[in-house]
Amino acid sequence: VRVWVERLLRDGVVAENVLFETDADGTVISEAAAPRPADAVGLTFAVPGFGNAHSHAFHRALRGRTHEGGSFWTWRETMYRAAGRLDPDSYRELASGVFGEMVANGWTAVGEFHYLHHAPDGARYPAHAMEMAIADAAADAGIRLVLLDTAYLSAGVAGEPLSERQRRFSDGDAAGYLDRWHALRSALAGRSPLVTLGAALHSVRGVPRDAMVAIVAGLPADVPLHIHLSEQPAENAACLAVHGLTPTGLLAECGILSPRLAVVHATHLTEADIGLLGAARVHAVFCPTTEADLGDGIGPAVEVIEAGVRLALGSDQNAVVDPLLEMRGLEAGERLRSLRRGRVEPAALWQIAGAGGYGALGLPAPARVGGPLDLVELDLGSTRTAGAIPVQVALAATGSDVIRTVVGGRVVHDRSDAAPIAARLARSISALLDA
Ligand SMILES: [Zn+2]
Repeated sequence: VRVWVERLLRDGVVAENVLFETDADGTVISEAAAPRPADAVGLTFAVPGFGNAHSHAFHRALRGRTHEGGSFWTWRETMYRAAGRLDPDSYRELASGVFGEMVANGWTAVGEFHYLHHAPDGARYPAHAMEMAIADAAADAGIRLVLLDTAYLSAGVAGEPLSERQRRFSDGDAAGYLDRWHALRSALAGRSPLVTLGAALHSVRGVPRDAMVAIVAGLPADVPLHIHLSEQPAENAACLAVHGLTPTGLLAECGILSPRLAVVHATHLTEADIGLLGAARVHAVFCPTTEADLGDGIGPAVEVIEAGVRLALGSDQNAVVDPLLEMRGLEAGERLRSLRRGRVEPAALWQIAGAGGYGALGLPAPARVGGPLDLVELDLGSTRTAGAIPVQVALAATGSDVIRTVVGGRVVHDRSDAAPIAARLARSISALLDA
């Protein structure tokens, strides 16, 4: 496949007349300055694809329904109600719509942090039905998926048992999770070139200390590993009370901090936590629109970057699905907490949302030789972007400025056909929550 880009913004500079060529899997095998060949897809202005490093697809159903009052913990109540009603068929429909919305807004890859494994009573579905529903939804939408299959075994830092409503999340113990994970890996092999399997520990609340150690030891060393970390001060307080350590300190003591680890949120960190995360070269996934919506707080982005952490962005609860708004949210948070401008410069915002997200998912950087040919064509002539310098479009455009999305060298979305995605979302959310 050949894709030609008239103007490509990458690493903060615009290159002109860039011709990419891929192998059969959509991996870039060559890149050169050349005139547009007659048989190549031609994009006017494009950037490397955006990697959404943290998503819970089904939370999308709560958008526009949970914004009145309450706290993180009351939001979670509504989330559990939606979670309790999903089955493989309804999940496939909903996730197809959500992944379609992501592609339409420029996310070309997603890490789905998935723990709805079993039936509501905890019984196993045959043939990994929930996981396959997500994989099929991604293939249907044309998005690159890293399924972050999640261990969720306990309800609190002291190993409290899961409630009735959380039963469908659980594999019982570390061995049960590892058995299912390895079987899932075999079942997913060859299913779609867009789908790979990663792993996750829900949090220091969701997986007891010994189980975390056993799970990490039982996973292949090259698999990306994610965990929610210090999203809420209450988690830190509970962890200190039980273990005498912060959640980051506990991960360090268990030997889990490593370059393959991505910590999600990392909002409430101590200076010592930041030092540990940076020294281990972990990835951190900030989710600015979610952290604002849930009242989580503003994470120390500049401090973690300076310590050596590699930053990425995620849409998390999917109340907002728009990489450009996450980029802007990251920089806005920095400005609001520091009372200064230019904390994360536009060129760095593009890098964080693009290659940063891919890296956190264990994927090679997009739109480079050796990486997937994932690109986003942006409109520089909209009411939002007209007159802007390309690199600063980071702080001007929204997902509505995405004209076409390319994944693996193939155009998977054109903005002239977004209506079916919206109709699908409306149908599946109404069936889930209004029935
Ligand atoms: Zn999450």
